[in-house]
Amino acid sequence: MSKAAAVRRIGMLGGTFDPVHIGHLRSALEVAEFMDLDELRLLPNARPPHRDTPQVAAQDRLAMVRSAVQGVARLSVDDRELARDKPSYTLDTLESVRAELGPDDQLFLVLGWDAFCGLPSWHRWEELLQHCHILVLQRPDADVEPPDALRNLLAARQQSDPTAMSGPAGHISFVWQTPLAVSATQIRQLLASGKSVRFLVPDAVLAYIEAHDLYRASN
Ligand code: ATP
Repeated sequence: MSKAAAVRRIGMLGGTFDPVHIGHLRSALEVAEFMDLDELRLLPNARPPHRDTPQVAAQDRLAMVRSAVQGVARLSVDDRELARDKPSYTLDTLESVRAELGPDDQLFLVLGWDAFCGLPSWHRWEELLQHCHILVLQRPDADVEPPDALRNLLAARQQSDPTAMSGPAGHISFVWQTPLAVSATQIRQLLASGKSVRFLVPDAVLAYIEAHDLYRASN
């Protein structure tokens, strides 16, 4: 039987990944497996120039994400936002990804709860669901009261079972996940004070950080 008509299930997880760490990677892998995604793409965002962090080039962040997912089934990297010279709107990114997919392929935008609550401030946010489903990562112990601006949207679009979201786009659902207690901020601080980040990042990322002398206080 031909597989030509098989519907693909693609997820997108954006972040600055400055640097990528095991919190991102475990979360990504768990979502990909739980949702039975064919591919979950880590999408490094162009960083606003004013952000107050040690200056690590976008190409370094990208190289670290690439090395982190190399050989990991279901996880991949999408570098389209770094190919532009300024931060991209998520809507534009989704339109561009959608244009490469078949009409029935399913696209899932994976967002943390905080990012989801901030949705009403995003550029043309009401159009996002024309291109993708939204999968909100929620901590089991978290407060689940959405902001008023999202109540109507949730009432109209929320589906209780994330694995049952049908069609290429248009629904919102929640995945409950306990995040590992690690952040890129913590990793940058450890490195800046000369400490090890071994076991907080994959060995390949650690090797890259050391080889390029990244995040040290003198940088
Ligand atoms: P920073 O400390 O610099 O703010 P971060 O570690 O939170 O960075 P981001 O690149 O901002 O990393 O995060 C990208 C995405 O990964 C976001 O959706 C964020 O909620 C999620 N994320 C961050 N840390 C974790 C974690 N420990 N477990 C699961 N998801 C995480």
